[in-house]
Amino acid sequence: MDNLQPGHQSDGVLHYRRDVDGEQVGIIPATCKVCGRALHKVGFRVSQRDGVMFVDCDGCTTAGLPGHAWQFTAAEAAPIRVELDDQPYIRR
Ligand SMILES: [Zn+2]
Repeated sequence: MDNLQPGHQSDGVLHYRRDVDGEQVGIIPATCKVCGRALHKVGFRVSQRDGVMFVDCDGCTTAGLPGHAWQFTAAEAAPIRVELDDQPYIRR
C-alpha cells in the first residue's frame, strides 16, 4: 500500500462550530470525495497533525485506495469531535 502523497492538495479550511457547552466541534463533509459514499454509512476516521485534519473513508481504505478522503487546513487545535455536514463545503 502506498501511503505517500507527494503534492497532496488541501481541500480548504476546516469549518467549526461551538456546541451548547461551548466546545469546539469540527465540521467535515458527509460524503467521501473519492468514492462518493456517505461517510456515516461506510465509516470514517479523522486525525489532525501539524495543522492538517485528515479524513479517511473506511470504504476507500478497505478497497485499498491510496490517499485521504479529505484534507483540511485546521486553524484550531484538534476538536474533541466532528460532525458531518456537506453544507459549509458546497461551492457556490
Ligand atoms: Zn471513500
